[in-house]
Amino acid sequence: MNATPVTDNIIQLTRLHFVNAFLVREEDGFTLVDTTVGGGAGKLLAAAGSAGAEIKRIALTHGHGDHVGSLDGLKEKLGGSVEVFLSDLDARIHAGEKVVEGKLPGSWPSIKTAPDVRLAGGERIGSLEVIRTPGHTPGHMAFRDTRDNTLIAGDVYTSYGGLAVSNHFNLRFPLATPATWDKDKDRDSARKLRELEPSLLVVGHGPPVTDPLPAMDRAISRAGGPAATSGAPAAN
Ligand SMILES: [Zn+2]
Repeated sequence: MNATPVTDNIIQLTRLHFVNAFLVREEDGFTLVDTTVGGGAGKLLAAAGSAGAEIKRIALTHGHGDHVGSLDGLKEKLGGSVEVFLSDLDARIHAGEKVVEGKLPGSWPSIKTAPDVRLAGGERIGSLEVIRTPGHTPGHMAFRDTRDNTLIAGDVYTSYGGLAVSNHFNLRFPLATPATWDKDKDRDSARKLRELEPSLLVVGHGPPVTDPLPAMDRAISRAGGPAATSGAPAAN
């Protein structure tokens, strides 16, 4: 597990060199955003311990296995002292409900832990604002740190070998695209996040992106579909 402070309040945790979770510092302890793949509970708890606080909340960007994989392990160790947040739609998918037409791509492992709070978007989790960003999954959420406008974008973007929207094939990190449910919605969510003008962008897969607006513009222009403002065809 690699622990890298990315702001005064956020530590990026990277497991197996490709999957990120984030410790977000609050007055009463940490909110852990995402849990990486399975088998990581001990390492995630140790990382929080080294950073000097307990994990009080777990906020999940979406229900894919490389984000919820260590949720049950953490819940076993933390029990009722931790509150779990997941979008209503992804929670319903995990509960076995069919919420969209057709087959859902990506990994949806069975998890025992049901969220305490089902998110619709617009809520606050400590300092984090919940932003509804469907597309990669039906219920995908991003989290904005209201203290400094750092954006935790989950899998709407990936940043290996440069920033990319997860709706189209990217040789540098090919895993996110085939797991993406609705490519147009994913691109619209990428635009919505760009409009927030984040000061720093962190993602589920890849390094933090400082001064992210030009990179987000380039990524969106490569993501296809009509241009956001001019109506001109997007560059390829
Ligand atoms: Zn995903």
